[in-house]
Amino acid sequence: MCKKRKRQTIMFALLIAALALVSTLRLAASSKQVAQPLPSVPVLSRIYLDPGHGGFDFGAVGKLPNGDDLAEKDLVLNIALTCGEQLARAGHEVLFSRMGEERLTNTTAADEVRARRASAKEQAADLIVSVHANAYAGEGRAYGARVYYNPTSPVSRVVAERIAAAITRHTGAYIGRECRTVADGTYYMVGDESMPAVLIELGFLSDERECALLGEGWYRTALATAIAEGVGDRDVETF
Ligand SMILES: [Zn+2]
Repeated sequence: MCKKRKRQTIMFALLIAALALVSTLRLAASSKQVAQPLPSVPVLSRIYLDPGHGGFDFGAVGKLPNGDDLAEKDLVLNIALTCGEQLARAGHEVLFSRMGEERLTNTTAADEVRARRASAKEQAADLIVSVHANAYAGEGRAYGARVYYNPTSPVSRVVAERIAAAITRHTGAYIGRECRTVADGTYYMVGDESMPAVLIELGFLSDERECALLGEGWYRTALATAIAEGVGDRDVETF
């Protein structure tokens, strides 16, 4: 091989190497662009479901159209269990404060709530979902679901809004009202800022019409599905 030809060959090899380098860099740049827009959403994979009350604590009690009582403790347990099944099917790890009548304490309601909160923390849950039902003894009609959250926790707020929107989607047509979110961190279950938490008041057992709906299996399934959708929705913007 003459010297000139050899130099040409080297130049050609260098050119090929340079082109390869440029295309590799371009590929790296474009794959970086693809990766960048992913939002930094915390993964709420381990969910602590807390059906309120239980055991000797019945919570609120409503009257069904057939004259039977509907106790809050039974209603919320039924809905939390259905919701838990759906969340587990969607790949979440689901923990329960109770799956029946068992309690963590045998003393006051405040002690029980404190113990449940501590157990969620101990088991490193990503989110507490506490489920309750309301009662109202005052003037006028009080009805509809509400989702409480601590305003100092942005994650709790976003999850509360998602759940409220899903409840409205699933039940708004039957109850005739939107599910509202309430920024109130005074409930102990949502008050601790160290763990995202929401508290859902499913509706008013004191309202004849709403109590009748809460007594229906299909309405309970709609509420359970809405909660699972709100918790599990990963298509969210950044917090
Ligand atoms: Zn309650």
